[in-house]
Order: sequence, then structure tokens, then C-alpha cells
Amino acid sequence: MGFDGLAKGWTVRGGVVSPGERVADYAAREQGVQGVCRGRGCSRRLDLEPKALGAVGLGLLSMTVVKKMWQCQRPDGCRLDYHDTAPEAPLRLSQFVGRANVRLRLRCGGQGCKFHRVWRVEEMIAGLKKRGQGSEATQVDKLGGMMTSPCPLCKEAGWTAEVLWVDTGSMGWKVNGERSFDRLASG
Ligand SMILES: [Zn+2]
Ligand SMILES: [Zn+2]
Repeated sequence: MGFDGLAKGWTVRGGVVSPGERVADYAAREQGVQGVCRGRGCSRRLDLEPKALGAVGLGLLSMTVVKKMWQCQRPDGCRLDYHDTAPEAPLRLSQFVGRANVRLRLRCGGQGCKFHRVWRVEEMIAGLKKRGQGSEATQVDKLGGMMTSPCPLCKEAGWTAEVLWVDTGSMGWKVNGERSFDRLASG
């Protein structure tokens, strides 16, 4: 696989860097899972600690499976609501500097709007520094909120940033190289 250099806890899905689903991935991102039960008469609250779960041999399980294992055993079913805490080891732009197989994609969140723009990571960092908004240390998931210019198509200003990653071990990369982004960018 050509995913060398991708931070632990992350994977590539459909060409986009995404959080891995295994308990060990949560541990690597230093991301916890909290649950609150909404069942009548049940006041259960729980904190799933991925590092502790890994230490007892559950690291390779998917977090979805682990969540089910911790369900309340109630005759009327479990109403546990889970949510992931913010990762303490988030993706930062510095992790992608100097990688020809990586681009940032800013996607418009306007309803039904498909507009997006693709940037080299270095260009994005230079722009952030120039505007005094950020640097290499900027988190990828904070990037969208920093973009205040409206979408040229729908005039909304709600952007989401994604990291596009082409597997350098793939035939596509060997044949197309950086032209691979022409296809990903329009996806
Ligand atoms: Zn419960
Ligand atoms: Zn738009």
C-alpha cells in the first residue's frame, strides 16, 4: 500500500483521508467515545477509552462492534446515544507538506451545490500565513470555517476541507501521477 506517511489512526476512503474505525485508530487519534442512555429509568453514562480497550485485546475490533457490546440489556431495548469526542491528535496541514500525492479540497456546503476547489497544501499554508489566519499547525477540520468568501455558484459561505490522498502504489498513480487529481477533484 502507498499509504506510508499517513498518520496512525487515519485511512483513505474513496480517495479522502478519513478516520479509521478500529479501536486502535481511535486510540492513535486520542479520541474517546461517550455514551448517554435515553431509556426510561436508565441513567447509564459511559466513557469508552480506546487505549484501555486496546490493552485488553480489543484494538482490532471496529468501534461500531464495541459500542454494541456495551449496550444496555433492557427488555425495551437500548437507547444509548454515543458521540465521539474531538481527537487530541487531529490532522494538521504540516503532516502533508511536500507530498505530491496529496491535495486539499474545499467543498461548498450549500444545498445541492457541488462547487469545490482543490489546493496544494503549500499554497494553502502560504495563504493562511499571508492573511494571518494560520500556519502549518492549522487543523484540517478548522480550515473550512476560516474560509469566509462566498461560493461563486450559490453565494453561501459554508466550506468543508478534505485531504485527497492518491495511493502512490496504485497503477493510477504510476500512469497518471499528479494528473490523478483531475479526476478526484471533480468527484
Ligand atoms: Zn440504558
Ligand atoms: Zn456553493
